[in-house]
Amino acid sequence: MRAVVFYGPDDLRCEDIPTPTPALGGLVLRIEAALTCGTDVKTLRRGHPVMIPHVPTVFGHELAGTVVAVGPGTRGFREGDRVVAANSAPCGQCPLCRAGRPNLCEDLLFVNGAYGEYIALPPRLVERNVVRLAAGTPAARAAFAEPLACALLGIERGRVEKGMTVAVIGHGPLGCLLALVVAQRGARPLLVGKPGWRLDRVRSLGIAECLDAGQAGDLATLLRDVTGGSGVDVAVDATGRPEVWEQAVAAVGRGGTVVFFGGCAPGTTVTLDTRRVHYEELALVGAFHHTPVLIRQAVALLESEALVPDGLLTHTMGLADVPEALGLMERGQALKVLIEPNTA
Ligand SMILES: [Zn+2]
Ligand SMILES: [Zn+2]
Repeated sequence: MRAVVFYGPDDLRCEDIPTPTPALGGLVLRIEAALTCGTDVKTLRRGHPVMIPHVPTVFGHELAGTVVAVGPGTRGFREGDRVVAANSAPCGQCPLCRAGRPNLCEDLLFVNGAYGEYIALPPRLVERNVVRLAAGTPAARAAFAEPLACALLGIERGRVEKGMTVAVIGHGPLGCLLALVVAQRGARPLLVGKPGWRLDRVRSLGIAECLDAGQAGDLATLLRDVTGGSGVDVAVDATGRPEVWEQAVAAVGRGGTVVFFGGCAPGTTVTLDTRRVHYEELALVGAFHHTPVLIRQAVALLESEALVPDGLLTHTMGLADVPEALGLMERGQALKVLIEPNTA
């Protein structure tokens, strides 16, 4: 089969590799839709110690497909089932799994290989994080389940409620998904981004009120201006930049919550106004990854069309174009690229 293989930083090759066979308790899918992700861009530049412990490896992690082979002893799935698979599965045994926080599992099993004609899913993933799709669900939409589940976790951590004003800082695909979830919850999303093609595109989708980051000198002033001086109820950083983390803290009002959703480079630190954090009871929370429950919630939102992310797909390409697609992502010229590995 054809697949995109990651050999190390800046070395991505589209090659012929053996078509996988299903393991005991596992499945093999024919991939109908894979989506590019900002994480792929980061991984391509500098590798990823957690998601990609060994190279070479098949690459890509947002996918939907059809079961074409069922391993011996695999329960719950049949050939021909259309499914979405998350990119990880928690162990279910460690203290954090048992405490109901499987996104922090000490032994998260990551699965890559969305950019291929077929993918093998290991038993633990099949058991915990593969969800069957309804007949009419478009694969391209279903493939949003993984990033959408991450966005759901961020909004859950932010304790976003109806009527709140929520600033999402960063207008990449995850910023957009976060804003869509905020709107779906009946809160008011303010999406802050840098002016340019991507922000114009996001604005045209009508996802949220879009604000230019540079508009009022600093972000806190801008967000206090649009909230009549009080500051936002919740600020979510979706940029992964320490200076934006600081601005997000400055932008929330009394009793506000800041969600650090974007991961910063290793070794970075931020400065806090301790007086505000204490006397104004700011809640500062991290948000990482997703859980099996949230993957299912994401699929339900997509299938019921309570949340429709289709507008974030700006391009459709084939397997050989994956490096180009990731280049578009890196230069801010795409939101998400739909890769169809089995369409010539
Ligand atoms: Zn992703
Ligand atoms: Zn665990």
